[in-house]
Amino acid sequence: MKRICVLPGDGIGPEVVDCAARVLKEAAPGDLEFIYADIGQSAFEKHGRYLPEETLAQMRASDSCLFGAVTSEDSPRYESPVLRFRKELDLYANVRPVKTLVQLPQRQPIDVVIIRENSEGMYTQDEVFDDKGVTTMRKVTKGASERIVSYAIEYALRTGRKGITCVHKANVLKASDGLFLAIFREKMKDKGKGLNASEQLVDSAAMKLVAEPMVFDVIVTLNLYGDILSDVAAAVAGGLGFAPSGNIGPKYSVFEPAHGSAPDIAGKGIANPTAAVLAGAMLLRHIGLERAASAVETAVAGFYSSGHLTNDLGGRHGSKSFTDHVLKNITG
Ligand code: ATP
Repeated sequence: MKRICVLPGDGIGPEVVDCAARVLKEAAPGDLEFIYADIGQSAFEKHGRYLPEETLAQMRASDSCLFGAVTSEDSPRYESPVLRFRKELDLYANVRPVKTLVQLPQRQPIDVVIIRENSEGMYTQDEVFDDKGVTTMRKVTKGASERIVSYAIEYALRTGRKGITCVHKANVLKASDGLFLAIFREKMKDKGKGLNASEQLVDSAAMKLVAEPMVFDVIVTLNLYGDILSDVAAAVAGGLGFAPSGNIGPKYSVFEPAHGSAPDIAGKGIANPTAAVLAGAMLLRHIGLERAASAVETAVAGFYSSGHLTNDLGGRHGSKSFTDHVLKNITG
């Protein structure tokens, strides 16, 4: 029995996580125990913190975590619970696979995995004010770069991927991105035998992800670039409702849809749960339930391949109807 800590959060988080939990229960009957913990605004109202200590303890006591989304606040008291759990749990790798499930007009097919450094870069929130303006510190260390590049190589080899592209801006950020690129070159020579290595500036990578996405297989990149490029990739596949994400560290893991809390559509029953359900499949694979993970992915792909469309693609299926179809596909 594996213990899963479920963190529904705010906005559409609880809706899509509920759909994902239903699907996981069906795919791995009797294998999973779910415990629920507070995060985000609802946690702040109850416990006075966006990521309460009790929640962190529950996350640490579980085999993996399934997270929805939180609404960020523009207020001085706000502390991002996502950045905090990534740091506290040492979740250094962010893995975002994006694959076409429905061929949309004027979009190219895509099948890419973006592996993003998750612990430093622009996300250390180190901003210094002076009378001229603000300086934002952007940290790139040898240790974190080696760790993420090694992770990407192992991932590509383990999953049968053919190549890795390092996305950077080393022509401008010569020292920081230059370090990341040098480590990529060195590690690929050392450990990446059998994989094609390529390099791409972040601006042209953004364009190619739209114009010629199939040139990419696995992308390894720095924190901010990975954040932006994974939304670009999601748009190519149909929108934010299509991109799952895994935050992975040596001991802990948290899986989530890459989208945010989408307050504009919360409570309407129209959020697309695909990203959350596919994040659930990633979770199952991570904890060793490979067969259940494949069953979920096949069931989701089957929903779209039989011609159904969700509301965000102009179709008639809301969250519940999508989930009912996926459940039916699993049970056969
Ligand atoms: P946050 O501040 O929490 O990041 P946000 O609304 O700024 O939230 P997202 O939630 O990532 O950013 O999404 C932007 C828009 O994309 C949403 O307002 C919503 O209209 C759409 N969207 C996001 N996720 C989904 C989904 N799962 N299904 C349908 N539409 C979605």
